[in-house]
Amino acid sequence: MGLNFSMAAGNIRLKMSLKLVIFDLDGTVVENSYDWPVIRQQLGVQGGSILAYLDRLPEPERSEKYALLRKFEREQTESSVLKQGVREFLEWLYWSGIKKALVTNNSQGNTDHLLRRFQLEFDLVLTRESGLHKPAGAPFLRVMEHFGARAGETAVVGDTNYDLLAAKEAGIELVFILKSSMTPDRLEGAELVQTFADIKTRLTARFSG
Ligand SMILES: [Mg+2]
Repeated sequence: MGLNFSMAAGNIRLKMSLKLVIFDLDGTVVENSYDWPVIRQQLGVQGGSILAYLDRLPEPERSEKYALLRKFEREQTESSVLKQGVREFLEWLYWSGIKKALVTNNSQGNTDHLLRRFQLEFDLVLTRESGLHKPAGAPFLRVMEHFGARAGETAVVGDTNYDLLAAKEAGIELVFILKSSMTPDRLEGAELVQTFADIKTRLTARFSG
């Protein structure tokens, strides 16, 4: 199943297909307005990953700061709206026989809440409770293994550098970054897109025929 395309490479014809699309949640499937610089400041995170920083803290500071992070996340979860074109894109993948996975550093509770509220279905959902966090490639590798999809058969849709870094570490070369106010200026190795319709157009051009 999946969209197929043939590529002539010398005398060898390689048949390749897209089997799996991995989505980010916040800023990708849903739109919200996390003020990460302010959140980092309030949590006392200098640089690097917030979750990695919190996980290294001693108790009770660790629990207190996780509670503060959850407060910010709850506020943003409440005010989240569905990104335009998501539903149509997910349906198109479904009818194309392509698996859909959601990988987020957000919590299971917030993720479940959003998926219920917008009535979205993914074939696999991995939240931070998995213990595997972007920007590491580990959560993506776990999902690929689950579906038996190779890196070349997988695409990533996200909105930040974390999505790109995780994809690179997992060996995934096809990365779509949806443009937003959070988008980094330089996204080497990713395709910057405006909408989900743009992603569909590019996937069709790449994998059909
Ligand atoms: Mg995001």
